Amino acid sequence: MANYYSDNQNLQFYLDHPLMKRIVELKERNFTDKDTYEDAPVDYEDAMENYRRVLDITGDITANIIEPNSESVDLEGPHLENGRMIYASKTVENLDACTKGGLWGVSMPRRYGGLNLPITVFSMLSEMVASADAGFQNIWSLQSCIDTLYEFGNEEQRMKYIPRVCAGETMSMDLTEPDAGSDLQSVMLKATYSEKDGCWLLNGVKRFITNGDSDIHLVLARSEEGTKDGRGLSMFIYDKRQGGVNVRHIEHKLGIHGSPTCELTYKNAKAELCGETRLGLIKYVMALMNSARLGIAAQSVGLGQEAYNEALKYANERQQFHKRIIEFPAVYDMLSRMKAKMWTSTSALRTSSASVRSPQRNALR
Ligand SMILES: Cc1cc2nc3c(=O)[nH]c(=O)nc-3n(C[C@H](O)[C@H](O)[C@H](O)COP(=O)(O)OP(=O)(O)OC[C@H]3O[C@@H](n4cnc5c(N)ncnc54)[C@H](O)[C@@H]3O)c2cc1C
Repeated sequence: MANYYSDNQNLQFYLDHPLMKRIVELKERNFTDKDTYEDAPVDYEDAMENYRRVLDITGDITANIIEPNSESVDLEGPHLENGRMIYASKTVENLDACTKGGLWGVSMPRRYGGLNLPITVFSMLSEMVASADAGFQNIWSLQSCIDTLYEFGNEEQRMKYIPRVCAGETMSMDLTEPDAGSDLQSVMLKATYSEKDGCWLLNGVKRFITNGDSDIHLVLARSEEGTKDGRGLSMFIYDKRQGGVNVRHIEHKLGIHGSPTCELTYKNAKAELCGETRLGLIKYVMALMNSARLGIAAQSVGLGQEAYNEALKYANERQQFHKRIIEFPAVYDMLSRMKAKMWTSTSALRTSSASVRSPQRNALR
């Protein structure tokens, strides 16, 4: 049976890299979790065995559920019903398979219900999901927004939201607006503190929000009246259970149709401040974008791997002039260039996922 992990020697090669010892050391901190959690590893070999098990489960789900569903998801796409985004039916099946496989909140500490996986391994999972369906990977990998909430939210917020993400609730990052794209300093969505409600109220519009009808949103909004630049922006947590945000449009994109790109209207939506006011863009969104960049890098590598596999298979099967076309220099030259570029990108992804994120998060524990 196909498996995107055991069929991919590249993933296994990197997992055997000596640097993994240091990554495990940073992540498991003398393996103290073993005294509290039954499934926590007792040593390096045990941790690696755990990683391989999660990778194998993901390899199975991606190859045998998500990939076979991908064509139907792409053809059906999400749709809008009374201000709510409804996923393609097979997307719901994919989400359910990931929940049953325990593939949510994977990077979070065990005390919140997570698997405490290092970002290197998270990235590998992300790659496999993208190989199976790049659109679904957008939805799945947005679970990394929880890293920012974990890093900058308070303990009460962590206790409230992280277990929900570990149980399968989805996330989104609501930054872009009609007049604020690359220039996020221009964000205008307004946050006003309401003494009456004892919370912040959000009003305005967000555009191009991936998985915009998610359960838990991180929202960039202007909390400081009269300001015009990034120093007046703060980050908020919006919980869909509170109501106040509707989807008014889903973009018709060229590809990744299964990934809903939404326009949202906020009308007195109740929200909680995450961290301190004024640091929304200059500190928290910068951290959030680090996860998002790694997510997109993993998506590109996963997609590239699958495209290469398909091209190689086709070039080995297709015959012209009584020869397999892979035997023509012009074709094998293209394939070898693809392979070289893919390995370079994979190597860059592994290096950044090993060095950028893990120590940053571990400093908190
Ligand atoms: C599929 C998809 C999913 C998305 N998901 C999300 C999401 O989940 N959350 C979210 O908040 N946003 C999301 N976005 C929005 C995305 O972040 C913005 O599209 C992006 O920031 C660019 O903004 P813009 O589209 O308004 O383009 P603009 O900022 O208007 O840019 C237009 C063009 O001008 C160029 N340009 C702009 N400024 C400069 C400059 N200083 N120097 C040189 N060139 C410049 C740009 O490169 C671009 O070619 C998504 C977008 C897409 C297409």
